[in-house]
Amino acid sequence: MLTGIRIVFLGGDARQIEVIRKCVEMDASVSAAGFDKWDAPSPGVNLELLSAELLGNADVLVLPTVGCDDEGNISAIFSSERLQLLEEHFAALPKGCIVYTGMAKPYLRSLCAKYSLKLVELLNRDDVAIYNSIPTAEGALVMAIQNTDFTIHGSISMVLGMGRTGFTMARTLQGLGSKVKVGVRKQEHYARAEEMGWMPFMTGELLAHIQDVDLIFNTIPGMIITAQVLSRLPKHCVIIDLASAPGGCDFRYAEKRGIKAMLAPGLPGIVAPKSAGIIMANALVQSISGETIIRGDE
Ligand code: NAP
Repeated sequence: MLTGIRIVFLGGDARQIEVIRKCVEMDASVSAAGFDKWDAPSPGVNLELLSAELLGNADVLVLPTVGCDDEGNISAIFSSERLQLLEEHFAALPKGCIVYTGMAKPYLRSLCAKYSLKLVELLNRDDVAIYNSIPTAEGALVMAIQNTDFTIHGSISMVLGMGRTGFTMARTLQGLGSKVKVGVRKQEHYARAEEMGWMPFMTGELLAHIQDVDLIFNTIPGMIITAQVLSRLPKHCVIIDLASAPGGCDFRYAEKRGIKAMLAPGLPGIVAPKSAGIIMANALVQSISGETIIRGDE
């Protein structure tokens, strides 16, 4: 239980509603700014405006999955007003307050460091990335289905990278009856892919494996689908780039060649906000429960 812990939420989307609900259920004392357009707020949540006073009483500050941008702007789809986290807000946070987000940008990192605030990036957790890979793979399938005129069953698909997202993507495609090629760079991944019944290859030899591919799902965060690769792909091949921006595909050349290629960021929050919120909520509660909250006023 989180009884007695004062949690302040700042902005977010439908995922954050699930996180808030869970914290209320766990008996935390919950305040939230950036939710004035939330049509059915959970009982037990104090809806507030962002202020130094509000933050001055926080044991835990929870920002949205993407934290804030490098000017402190927080995405808040339930807010009628702009939400901006300024240096004075960090200064107001009590000593010992823990700041949670999914992924932090340099602005958030540097201000947390300056005010000696512990920053926890939940998406860095292996378990969270693995759970998140489920809605990501489902979202990628939706995009593939919407952008092709053939079934995934019987198609030849290629997954680049066999990390947390790549593994789930390959297994999901296999489950739908696709023949799955998987590009890896480690021998142990090659062996595991073979054991899974996929067709592995080393990414250094990518050019030799693309002639018959119908779909590509990239999870490698670096340029891998180069103009040279694109020049040898069948024209009907559709590329869904899952890697974080700017992705791993030469989109300019893909367009020039008439190949459909799309960057697909933030799929969990788009296709399954409720599930994605529950994943973050469970990780947050687990993490807070494992922390010793030290209050500056104690
Ligand atoms: P991950 O577990 O680190 O997987 C990335 C994989 O890429 C690793 O296995 C890594 O191999 C491999 N890799 C890197 N360079 C390579 C190369 N040149 N050849 C072969 N393999 C290479 O990361 P993840 O959690 O799966 O996430 C992957 C990307 O997807 C990230 O950019 C993440 O931000 C993004 N993502 C996007 C969404 C979305 O909604 N679009 C959702 C979740 C994650 P090694 O193991 O050998 O290092």
